[in-house]
Amino acid sequence: TAEESSRRRVLLKLSGEAFAGGGGLGVDPDVVHAIAREIATVVRGGTEVAVVIGGGNFFRGAELQLRGMDRARSDYMGMLGTVMNSLALQDFLNKEGIETRVQTAITMGQVAEPYLPLRAIRHLEKGRVVIFGAGMGMPYFSTDTTAVQRALEIHAEVLLMGKNGVDGVYDSDPRTNPDAVKFDTLEYSEVIARDLRIADLTAITLCKDNNLPMLVFELLAEGNIARAVRSEKIGTLISG
Ligand code: UDP
Repeated sequence: TAEESSRRRVLLKLSGEAFAGGGGLGVDPDVVHAIAREIATVVRGGTEVAVVIGGGNFFRGAELQLRGMDRARSDYMGMLGTVMNSLALQDFLNKEGIETRVQTAITMGQVAEPYLPLRAIRHLEKGRVVIFGAGMGMPYFSTDTTAVQRALEIHAEVLLMGKNGVDGVYDSDPRTNPDAVKFDTLEYSEVIARDLRIADLTAITLCKDNNLPMLVFELLAEGNIARAVRSEKIGTLISG
């Protein structure tokens, strides 16, 4: 049955860009509310959910570097952006009646717990959603890599990679090539060989080396988070 194939513990990676809605910059509360409702549904269904959110709706270090900023400093700005997204999601999850903890890789005691993996696991076991903010706390990394590392450390069975505006992995960019073909399944070695840019290479190799499966799917299609948790055939499942 659907319930039997439900995932027990997942790491959900949310695109920061999606949080901006149509605006491109900042947080659109309507989008965050909709995502929170979907997460609440799967948590009530008994699945343990940990979340990593990107920060592309505020700052990307690499983009600020191109505009003349020091890379490490602009990466810290990027990490701080992910904390704002984390607090927004926490608020809407609380409004749905779901207990939530934000844990950050850069300590900021007034707004979040420090990242403590064993405590994160205890929260998950109690049905709380744990949101990991501030990436890995280190410049030159991405929130994709953070999502993989956190998924491994909390023993999530799958990384659910929610994308904004694309419903899986294609052999070429579907936004520019109408003949692009979508993969239902893929192996990490193919992702690397074909240079399919679905996450940065650091994230992909970390998944490959540790056998963590990744489902790439469209985040904002209604009901998709629940479908991903139930292992329905959506998006592209990468393994191997
Ligand atoms: N970042 C970082 N170290 C980390 C995670 C994130 O330096 O461990 C910075 C980096 O500048 C990145 C920004 O935070 O560009 C926002 O994260 P990301 O680009 O991954 O967000 P997304 O594209 O998923 O919205």
